[in-house]
Amino acid sequence: MHDGTFCLPDLTTFCRLDELGLVVVGQRLEPERTVLECRVVARENDAFCRRCGAEGVIRDTVTRALAHEPCGWRLLTLLIRVRRYRCSGCRRVWRQDTTAAAAPRAKLSRAAVRWALVGLVTQHLTVARVAEALAVA
Ligand SMILES: [Zn+2]
Repeated sequence: MHDGTFCLPDLTTFCRLDELGLVVVGQRLEPERTVLECRVVARENDAFCRRCGAEGVIRDTVTRALAHEPCGWRLLTLLIRVRRYRCSGCRRVWRQDTTAAAAPRAKLSRAAVRWALVGLVTQHLTVARVAEALAVA
């Protein structure tokens, strides 16, 4: 990869969101933070019911907000559009799997958790400084 050539600028890889199974589809620059709108990279079994195996239909989309590792100390929020499906067989409802991006119910992306640990352990940042940079308590 490090052959000195440049490729087209790409926020998804710049923010290493490809590692989290996400693709950036929009950006919003606010005074205090940057919000990146993301969607989940589709996987072939997303649309199939884990209970009965029937195919689901897209019902709606819900959003999940995560703090991501800051970009030059600037707050970075991911707003993920997650598809919800309803099974055409048993009517079960489920949503796209986002566990690659964050632990269930977490408010921090996996990259933000790693960033916080590196900050605390090797940069000797305070917990308060790390929390401020991620805008979490
Ligand atoms: Zn089903």
